[in-house]
Amino acid sequence: VVLDGYTENPGDLSWRELEAYGELTVYDRTSLIDENETIERIGDAEVVFTNKTPITKKVIDACPNIKFISLLATGYNVVDYQYAKEKGIPVTNVPTYGTASVSQFAIALLLEICHHVAHHSKAVHEGRWEHCQDWCFWDYPLIELAQKTIGIIGFGRIGQQTGKIAKALGMKVLAYDSYQSDSGKEIAQYVELEELLASSDVIALHCPLFPSTEGIINKDTIEKMKDGVILLNNSRGPLIVEQDLADALNSGKVMAAGLDVVSTEPIKGDNPLLKAPNCIITPHISWAPRESRQRIMDCAVANVKAYVDG
Ligand code: NAD
Repeated sequence: VVLDGYTENPGDLSWRELEAYGELTVYDRTSLIDENETIERIGDAEVVFTNKTPITKKVIDACPNIKFISLLATGYNVVDYQYAKEKGIPVTNVPTYGTASVSQFAIALLLEICHHVAHHSKAVHEGRWEHCQDWCFWDYPLIELAQKTIGIIGFGRIGQQTGKIAKALGMKVLAYDSYQSDSGKEIAQYVELEELLASSDVIALHCPLFPSTEGIINKDTIEKMKDGVILLNNSRGPLIVEQDLADALNSGKVMAAGLDVVSTEPIKGDNPLLKAPNCIITPHISWAPRESRQRIMDCAVANVKAYVDG
């Protein structure tokens, strides 16, 4: 069973290849479902595919037929993998499908913040040709990135690719990671977190969500950042204490934020970031170009095949 696949649009990808391995049911991701609905959807299925639908202890206990959990994602925090392990259920993820698309999206958020392309195009379509001589133009100032410093927290596959693109834009790249790789050293200067916070004009989060990284951006760490810093997060929402970021956007300490992820998805109406100024929020779509989804599909099929073949 695919708990939350993407709808099969004409000309787009199909899940049908999985039918070779047994009876297949595909639910699309039109709404997030609760534990009881998850249990209902799984029923007596043996192989479960999930992107964002949590597979909790309760779900695992209520569906004793589950033999294999295949994540259609890199981050595996939606599955209680410790409990799955205890139960002898293998859990696989798809580690590299989105490196190009997620890093590209981080830079897209940054470029939108620096150029306000959507705003200026909308103004033109609405009959306003705002230019440097117009006061309203200065509500949306443009920012050049060359010579500025980007600090990347979590310098693995995606972080390094973001670093490469930033370097191509003429930026200086700092990285903070618990593990320093040779490939990383060719792109960035590794520094301690404090130095990254204090020296970066732009900070991008590309680390996984672990207990050690949850809330890594909070009142105290924001205080250590440069005034007017730009913050990017298309890794996982809970890396940021959202009220603290909203306060910092309101005060101008953080000039702008580009977020593809939030603590609760879909976003709740009372999320303080919805009312904060200069805060771009997109609905967790960094991973979603067709090319990336094809890679997910290929890897998920290969994972099931490997499982079935023993
Ligand atoms: P990766 O494993 O290659 O890199 C993660 C890096 O973070 C590693 O180098 C690791 O050493 C580092 N790290 C771990 N704990 C750390 C800590 N406490 N402090 C600093 N660094 C730490 O993973 P990746 O492929 O680069 O993916 C990174 C994250 O991107 C994923 O975990 C996932 O949450 C997110 N992601 C988001 C989307 C999206 O659509 N928005 C899609 C794919 C992945």
